[in-house]
Amino acid sequence: MIAFCTRCWTEIDDRIKECPACGANQASDLRTYDEKIVDALRHPLPQARARICWLIGENSIRGAVPRLMEIAESDPDIYVQKAAVEALGAIADPRSDRFLRSMSRGQNRLLAVAASKSLRT
Ligand SMILES: [Zn+2]
Repeated sequence: MIAFCTRCWTEIDDRIKECPACGANQASDLRTYDEKIVDALRHPLPQARARICWLIGENSIRGAVPRLMEIAESDPDIYVQKAAVEALGAIADPRSDRFLRSMSRGQNRLLAVAASKSLRT
């Protein structure tokens, strides 16, 4: 599966032992895949954060729901917020349903539309 080096944020395969870019030892990181991928949401690049949101939605990582809700509300990049909304829609969880319903009535048009669409799928 896709993972990210937590030292340099290079996208890597999660089975790899050492980051090819910076040499950081990945095997010494004992966190679960879910914990690592949620942590990668701190990635400095918006495109990467959006991609990680998508990845979380694809893998239905329910542990990420609280963090996705924070991002949907407050990421400085609107497209990352939208990606978080879509990821919440992909994860069947009562918390995300409630959140998306309130977001679909929100002020921001782009996010309201994304939230409504996510609720229907
Ligand atoms: Zn690295």
